[in-house]
Amino acid sequence: MAAHDAWALVCRLFAGGTPVLRATLSPREISLLPALGKAVKPTVVDQSFVLCPHCEQHRVQVWGDGRGGRMCRCPDCGPVAVDANDGAALALDEDWLRQKLRLALGIESRDGIDDLGGGVWRLGDARRSPIVLARDLTRVLYEPALLNRVRVAGSDLRVITPRPSITRGSPFGAGVEWLALEERFTFYGGGITLFGTPSPSVTPVVADPAVPVNGPFSADFKWATLPDVQATPIQFTDGQSKVFKALWSFKGAEVDGARIMSSADLESDKPIDLFKIKAKDKGSPLHEARLAAYGALVVTQQRAGLYAMPCAATGKEVAMT
Ligand SMILES: [Zn+2]
Repeated sequence: MAAHDAWALVCRLFAGGTPVLRATLSPREISLLPALGKAVKPTVVDQSFVLCPHCEQHRVQVWGDGRGGRMCRCPDCGPVAVDANDGAALALDEDWLRQKLRLALGIESRDGIDDLGGGVWRLGDARRSPIVLARDLTRVLYEPALLNRVRVAGSDLRVITPRPSITRGSPFGAGVEWLALEERFTFYGGGITLFGTPSPSVTPVVADPAVPVNGPFSADFKWATLPDVQATPIQFTDGQSKVFKALWSFKGAEVDGARIMSSADLESDKPIDLFKIKAKDKGSPLHEARLAAYGALVVTQQRAGLYAMPCAATGKEVAMT
């Protein structure tokens, strides 16, 4: 799940729009930093004011303590010592984010990125459909003039923003497709990849990618048709589809979890790791359906650490790439 968690951190940094103090990151987040490579850069934030290290409620001024150290006076906590490294911070390289999003979306490099101000950018055109990146969904919702500036007659507009805490369905009307940054993209191989296919209105002539070809799976293992789990085809993440493709290649045989994961070229220990639902995704029909599909297709012998996918027993061999 390292790539998923790394992407979640990228999204959080973009949504916040300011550097975060290293001291406020969890050990898990710190461990993700090497994987993020050029996406984040170390920086130093102004250390004349800090969040009180004791209560983390008040932003307070920092003073010398007269003995070479530093301290702050918090209205609640009184004098509190401030660590010398409290100013060490990380910032998202937002130019990296915008460039990699352009690559993920297939935007031609010749048209540049337009900064529309206030945390809104026009990333460029993909298939003649303009794409806008915004730090805050509410800003583009409440300022329709912003989108009208980039809208092109006869083309849909795509808007990418971090997912706000409360959203249901599509926040925009017809002609604008919303892509939640956290869900439609992920961190992959040092860059960014887009999940799913462009909306039908943007590319009207693509074949249905979900058509079952390998047992219940689509040709690329990114979809499964399992009417007992969900009436419509279930779409998987890149990592999940790699797990299924690897399991499929073993033709229903029981195989050690580590062998499956290395065959899938994934870092996690066990196939199930890719399907576990995080606290923030609890109740999401998409995540529940993915996990249910895994449960329906994969037989696990937990103690022996063996996994098998019986539906692959009769399937034809698939070349591993
Ligand atoms: Zn305090």
